[in-house]
Amino acid sequence: MDTQRYEVAILGSGIGGSMLACILARHGVSTLLLEGASHPRFTIGESLIPETGLRLRIVAEKYGVPEIGWIGTFHKLRRHVSSNCGVKRSFGFMYHRFGEENRPEEINQFGTLAPPVGPDSHLFRQDTDAYLAELAVKYGATFLSQTRIADIAFGEDEVELHAASGETYRAKLLIDASGMRSLVSDQLGMRDEVPRFRTDTRAIYTHMMGVRSADLLLRPEDREGLLSPLGQSTMHHVFDGGWMWIIPFSNHRDATNPLTSVGLMLDRRKYPEPHGTPEQEFRRIISAYPTIARHFADAHAARPWVRSGRIQYSSPHFTGPRLIQLPHAGAFIDPLYSSGMSVLIIAIDLIADELLKAVAQNDYAVERFKFMEDVVNRGFDHYDAVVSGSIDSFASYDTWNAWNRNWVMGSLLGTFGPLSLLMHYQKTKDRSYLERTTEPSRMGVLASHLPGVVELVQAARADMDAGLAGRISYQEVSERIFARFRATDFLPPYMGFGDPKKTATATFTLLPGARHVLWYRRHGDPVYRDNCTFPLTTYTRSGADFVLDEVRQAVRNSVSAVRDVFFADNRDWQHTAPALEAHQELVTPVSTTVPPANEPDDFEFAKEVPAAAPVRAVG
Ligand SMILES: Cc1cc2nc3c(=O)[nH]c(=O)nc-3n(C[C@H](O)[C@H](O)[C@H](O)COP(=O)(O)OP(=O)(O)OC[C@H]3O[C@@H](n4cnc5c(N)ncnc54)[C@H](O)[C@@H]3O)c2cc1C
Repeated sequence: MDTQRYEVAILGSGIGGSMLACILARHGVSTLLLEGASHPRFTIGESLIPETGLRLRIVAEKYGVPEIGWIGTFHKLRRHVSSNCGVKRSFGFMYHRFGEENRPEEINQFGTLAPPVGPDSHLFRQDTDAYLAELAVKYGATFLSQTRIADIAFGEDEVELHAASGETYRAKLLIDASGMRSLVSDQLGMRDEVPRFRTDTRAIYTHMMGVRSADLLLRPEDREGLLSPLGQSTMHHVFDGGWMWIIPFSNHRDATNPLTSVGLMLDRRKYPEPHGTPEQEFRRIISAYPTIARHFADAHAARPWVRSGRIQYSSPHFTGPRLIQLPHAGAFIDPLYSSGMSVLIIAIDLIADELLKAVAQNDYAVERFKFMEDVVNRGFDHYDAVVSGSIDSFASYDTWNAWNRNWVMGSLLGTFGPLSLLMHYQKTKDRSYLERTTEPSRMGVLASHLPGVVELVQAARADMDAGLAGRISYQEVSERIFARFRATDFLPPYMGFGDPKKTATATFTLLPGARHVLWYRRHGDPVYRDNCTFPLTTYTRSGADFVLDEVRQAVRNSVSAVRDVFFADNRDWQHTAPALEAHQELVTPVSTTVPPANEPDDFEFAKEVPAAAPVRAVG
């Protein structure tokens, strides 16, 4: 039997496991990354949100792995990581009544960030996950693909992982990054038997070809009120009983990928059981909504459809002796509002620093990581309230139009928090701004760390429950939610949170973005002032740097083109490509294969990590 031992083993090389492997290996930790499949492999979870992108950039700065930041910035992502990704300039929502065309006044839109920090992206996960797994190797991790772990034994001092192929791997700590089919959850019975979440949905999804741009669904005069093209948004169709995501990868001028990710989420109270094949069910449901049917008139699946049962699962704990689970292994609610990777990056930010200390001190006490569990579970509960309320609100446009402001509020304030810290850091290079991202007063999914936000959502929830129980009409639910937003003093009135007619709340290009910051600078409450303000000169300068960078790139390409027309030789080989520059700063990769268990233990880590304690037998 093979007896390779590592400091940390990570089960699953998706975006979370691979990212954490990069961070650990970059800091000299002996890291084993295990993957049952092989890259590139189909996976879902493609739409980034501004908060996720910002936190990716912050984690990149904090742990010296710039490539993680590239995943969070569209232009760097496209140029340095994969041209197969799409752009996301907004979230677009079209409301549909049974048997009717969409009414253009029932389109809601919310902008993502503009350059220098935006726009957001649609990650082609086949590429981004493969890129990160390969990057972990470059930073010194051992990566084994096609190594499905079939059994895990937790001992007092180490964890044994038994692969289906018969190999055994040992580590002092296991990070379970294996997502929804977590073997660890099954073996240890970590999940709640009945998910605690109120949201109760199932999914049908695939990648499609031939999906039209959503802009083609509108008459030219109806497009005029839009913030930005709907085809460049993560598009949602919402209707009583469900919603759809449409995530195009082909929606910008330099696109290379014709695919669109398409998914249908069904409220199981209204669509309890599957009917026919997944595609038949998909086509049957959308045929009742003429605008949606037009959207998919020429579309066909590019790979097999996936259909789930109830998609929610929950766990009271994400940690155990010698174990940390990343969020997707422990809990999932629903992809509405694309917050899965946001929770993931919050968790990684919360544990990475403590993990490096735990390695250095050879102390993996469970208590060290409990705070991550608390933040993540509190975040999931808040997110469940926002999502389940949204699905309830789909019963009428009035309630949906009011309810979605709860999410817009969380997204706005949840974005400004990390943006403010990043801009202060860029101005001062004071690393304490980076450290502050994990302060409890700064860490919450959809701004759930801000009491005012939680209060508003809970009050709206009570109204929605009264509506569902028939005590008040949906019209009244909507009026109460809008009235409360009008009375709220921590949201800029000009954004129109309390105005039913203002269906496109805000953009974040330079001038409107500056307006938001100036409004919060004058705000009386220091919590919101601190959360939402930053040096505008730094922001503007970053914008100028972004433009200059693009110009330089264009000039370089043109000069190369002219040169190549006239000359066969060149000196390109003497230059390191910008996307590869980061790799030049590599620490010397550590050796990760260590002696068998019956020999004296001398794990090789980076110099700052003390020698490990002897390894005892498992069990
Ligand atoms: C339908 C749906 C839509 C979503 N949409 C979005 C979205 O738009 N935006 C967003 O932010 N989030 C979204 N999410 C959530 C997002 O997918 C997750 O947050 C993210 O993928 C988690 O990444 P991960 O690396 O933790 O896990 P995963 O990406 O799931 O990776 C797990 C890896 O572990 C491997 N593995 C599993 N078991 C074993 C084993 N026994 N041995 C070896 N390897 C194993 C798997 O092969 C896989 O590669 C969505 C989720 C779902 C279900």
